[in-house]
Amino acid sequence: MTELRRLERVRQDFVGNVSHEFKTPLTAIQGFAETLLAGAIDDPKNNRRFLEIIRDHAARLARVTDDLLKLARIEAGKLELEFFPVGIQELIGGCAETTLLKASRKQISFSMEVPSGLPAVRGDASLLHDVLQNLLDNAIQYTPRGGRVVVGAAAGPREVTITISDSGIGIPLADQERIFERFYRVDAARSREAGGTGLGLSIAKHIVEAHGGRLWVESAVGQGSKFSFSIPLAG
Ligand code: ADP
Repeated sequence: MTELRRLERVRQDFVGNVSHEFKTPLTAIQGFAETLLAGAIDDPKNNRRFLEIIRDHAARLARVTDDLLKLARIEAGKLELEFFPVGIQELIGGCAETTLLKASRKQISFSMEVPSGLPAVRGDASLLHDVLQNLLDNAIQYTPRGGRVVVGAAAGPREVTITISDSGIGIPLADQERIFERFYRVDAARSREAGGTGLGLSIAKHIVEAHGGRLWVESAVGQGSKFSFSIPLAG
């Protein structure tokens, strides 16, 4: 296939995926609104529940739209990165509170194994925070109750590598490359049910690469996953 035809194919797949993501929530919103109008609004057993379903599907549409806009900005090269020295302790500390709360709700243990004295990296603090929080959210999302999540960091000669390990469901080898693609999910139904958009890792990968870094995964089904990303030192 020529490059042009390949790109056209990628574009068509993307439009197909986006339409599919919008269709389910829109159908639900329309259906429940019509049911309410047809009389369910006066049914005290169901009216509130139907409105909650409408609200949840609208929230899902908002999440997908937000992620698509973020992705479009990044891919158009319009993401304005503001590089400053970013401290690793501060970066990880900034995600700790939210992560502890989410972990404790699922009885997952969360620990930080971050040595002191790590050199700062050259990065956009707010975007790096988004990347780390996204990887931590996934770790909790795909780890059953009672599991554990650990965040660690280590410095090399030119970069710092942050690792997020979980004792969760793991990712089959054949899917490990593909999870960084837009909308790719190992288990689409499970991801949607959990409120995932399937875009988080592709956004994270773009951001890390815009820093001159790398993002990768090692995983074994049933044992857990370890995501790592490296960011060049502030120097
Ligand atoms: P989602 O919104 O579906 O979580 P992501 O882009 O963040 O989208 O992740 C893509 C897919 O990669 C997920 O649907 C899931 O199948 C898989 N995945 C991501 N993180 C993990 C993890 N820590 N453990 C197991 N599977 C994961």
